[in-house]
Amino acid sequence: MTRPDDAAEGPRRLAVTPERRLDTPLLVALSWAIIDYHLAYTCARCRPYGWCPRVVVARARIRAWRRVREQWRS
Ligand SMILES: [Zn+2]
Repeated sequence: MTRPDDAAEGPRRLAVTPERRLDTPLLVALSWAIIDYHLAYTCARCRPYGWCPRVVVARARIRAWRRVREQWRS
């Protein structure tokens, strides 16, 4: 099974590899892991209709981290 799209997306994916995530705090890295997990699975706290308090917290942490990082850049 060949998927030409994967090859085309290769370089773009490289831009967001682990090296870039090294300077992110552990909590933010964990938040990404939680969101990644919920793309495929549900956890013990997941509610029906795809809502989960863990995902809500994870998204809030990532949003807060982005805001902090933007302030550092300027
Ligand atoms: Zn969940």
